[in-house]
Amino acid sequence: MVNTSIKTTKSQEIFAAAQNLMPGGVSSPVRAFKSVGGQPIVFDRVNGAHIWDVDGNKYIDYVGTWGPAICGHAHPEVISALHTALEKGTSFGAPCVLENVLAEMVIDAVPSVEMVRFVNSGTEACMAVLRLMRAFTNREKVIKFEGCYHGHADMFLVKAGSGVATLGLPDSPGVPKSVTASTLTAPFNDLEAVKALFEQNPNEIAGVILEPVVGNAGFITPDAGFLEGLRELTQEHGALLVFDEVMTGFRIAYGGAQAKFGVTPDLTTMGKVIGGGLPVGAYGGRREIMSMVAPAGPVYQAGTLSGNPLAMTAGIKTLELLSKPGTYDYLEKITKQLADGLLKICSDTGHAACGGNISGMFGLFFTAGPVHNYEDAKKADTAKFGRFHRGMLEHGIYLAPSQFEAGFTSLAHTPEDIEQTLAAAKDVLSSL
Ligand SMILES: *Cc1c(COP(=O)(O)O)cnc(C)c1O
Repeated sequence: MVNTSIKTTKSQEIFAAAQNLMPGGVSSPVRAFKSVGGQPIVFDRVNGAHIWDVDGNKYIDYVGTWGPAICGHAHPEVISALHTALEKGTSFGAPCVLENVLAEMVIDAVPSVEMVRFVNSGTEACMAVLRLMRAFTNREKVIKFEGCYHGHADMFLVKAGSGVATLGLPDSPGVPKSVTASTLTAPFNDLEAVKALFEQNPNEIAGVILEPVVGNAGFITPDAGFLEGLRELTQEHGALLVFDEVMTGFRIAYGGAQAKFGVTPDLTTMGKVIGGGLPVGAYGGRREIMSMVAPAGPVYQAGTLSGNPLAMTAGIKTLELLSKPGTYDYLEKITKQLADGLLKICSDTGHAACGGNISGMFGLFFTAGPVHNYEDAKKADTAKFGRFHRGMLEHGIYLAPSQFEAGFTSLAHTPEDIEQTLAAAKDVLSSL
């Protein structure tokens, strides 16, 4: 292996200073590289499929700011639309026509959504949807799945994936038992467990919330019949089905996982891609349910910056770009080239691995698999992943700094970028 050790002096200085200023030196935990070891690199700018760090190193990026950069970072049309919007001011705190435009786009695209409410993050969308589920059904309990992440609100910090999994924290201190007592959990892909919970809690379960394709415990796909089974069970028990499509919405298909798998939930949460890189979340669903949200109905939820004109603009432009013919075929093509390539290299170099992709979302676990749920995912060799991650970084490839995060490609990634990534992986995996 060639010595590709990169110079990261400035990153190290800045991160060292940051650690005195902000807890762990970051604004969100996984960014600190705790689970892969070593120091994070500090970004200076992003463009297309690439990022540059403060020391001037260039990397091919497979995080895409955790999903939103699906058209490529700093897409010229998004930037230009933002410039125009910026001239009119940064926040209105009042109705604005851009909200109508994005709302119509979301309603047209996402099968379950007849009305939508914009918020500022995926966390907010999930908090609000839970209140709505409970209000609509007049029931308190909710079922979530082990390893699924629905933001950091108290009631979801039970067997949550993402950073919580990455850092090996059980649940979080500070979360009252009384709040999580009504959060029931089941293993992903386990319909029998869900059925049992419904039987043990008759007429008490407001609904089931899940990532229809898991991305926060690594990349885990639903088994055939799982989503359909949840749809039937919830209907049978008078409960709501909620897809948390904050990650999968406009990512694995324009209409999200519900369009891809043909299973329509009652409510949907969104975020990431619909903000085009600005802070946006949304929740929507059947008109009858959404009509309960204030001020149309009694279920309170509000936001100073919600429906922000800049965020709406970035979302609208991003969805416009995504709605062009062939975009998801392209994402599928290059991402499959990457996912298949990584598996082949692992097999050639004697590393047990499993993984795959759906459109521009992918994953690779260092375990023979198969991975159907969080327990399976935890069998992955995280120490090996840490060494792989560091090796790839030194080869100019930026992967999510955790075994338990999905990866993302964009329309800006070229087949040559993928080839270069696979060549780096071959080099790194041969010497692990
Ligand atoms: C990222 C994510 C969230 C939280 O969104 P934030 O914007 O980070 O608050 C919720 N659910 C899922 C499935 C996510 O991937």
